[in-house]
Amino acid sequence: MTLRVLFDEWQNVDGKYEQDFLVLFLENDEIIQQQPNPNMQVKLKHKYALVTGGSRGIGKAIVYSLVEAGANVAVHYHDSQNAVNKIVDDLGAYVKAFKADLGDAMEVSNLFNEVVDHFGKLDVLVNNAGIALHNPINEGDVTWLDSWLKTMDVNLNAAGLLCKKSIEHFVDHGGGRIINIASRAAHRGDTPEYMAYAASKGGLVAITKTIARAYGKKGIRAFTVAPGFVETDMTSGFIKQYGEELVQRGIKLEQITEPEDIANMVTFLASGLADHATGQTFDINAGSYVR
Ligand code: NAD
Repeated sequence: MTLRVLFDEWQNVDGKYEQDFLVLFLENDEIIQQQPNPNMQVKLKHKYALVTGGSRGIGKAIVYSLVEAGANVAVHYHDSQNAVNKIVDDLGAYVKAFKADLGDAMEVSNLFNEVVDHFGKLDVLVNNAGIALHNPINEGDVTWLDSWLKTMDVNLNAAGLLCKKSIEHFVDHGGGRIINIASRAAHRGDTPEYMAYAASKGGLVAITKTIARAYGKKGIRAFTVAPGFVETDMTSGFIKQYGEELVQRGIKLEQITEPEDIANMVTFLASGLADHATGQTFDINAGSYVR
């Protein structure tokens, strides 16, 4: 048996040079073992992903993580033009920004078409964008229903339509992966003010399960990631009102979950290393809610 070490050098997205090495074990010029084992690497090179709500918070961390694993990412954003410009400056050719209001079905449909037109194909859909509207039960019916419907439009209807369009695309292009970002609220429920939010996230779990069961043999895998409390713009108001102390008391780890904790799981699922878990929900909540 002979041993050969190969070195590879490339420029990363920051323009810095990185080096990697590969150890090959050969017998009669045939590779019998390779380290690191290529099957154990989270690799998304030549894969194209769409991340909704990618300009900030959890979505932004997902974009960076997918790019780090080699993917090209369509970064969907709503109105955070400056934030998305900064991401494009940072990540360069690996990303392209796409603007759309997910509360408008026409814009949702156009978003998907524009992304596929630009990349030529799509491999991974991450439905991350979401809103959590405060909607107390003692509101008037019209106001309450208006808030309920707005929540459903962004959190569930837009995600459902993007799933539908991805399924059609994936069936014609040899498969793909869908990752829906739900919430702990889907399983645990929420306070009455956030009933619509909890319902929308429960709907996402059901969409994921349906896709996994119906399209597995067509090469489509679907996963739900259900975060607990994560420090982002969505939750900053809560921290201001109730203090970090309350969140700390609810979790069973030392630190509050960060967007990167969610992003790592999404990238792992997107890579194909967990395909046989299709249909499942991955809870990431620092032990605050163990089902
Ligand atoms: P965030 O408020 O920082 O980000 C939400 C994203 O959704 C933003 O990019 C925003 O532009 C986008 N968005 C909102 N309304 C939109 C619209 N009408 N059209 C297009 N885009 C729109 O929140 P986050 O914490 O990063 O949340 C990301 C996802 O994670 C959401 O689906 C949220 O429900 C879920 N989640 C978050 C937490 C948490 O504690 N932060 C917990 C559980 C689940």
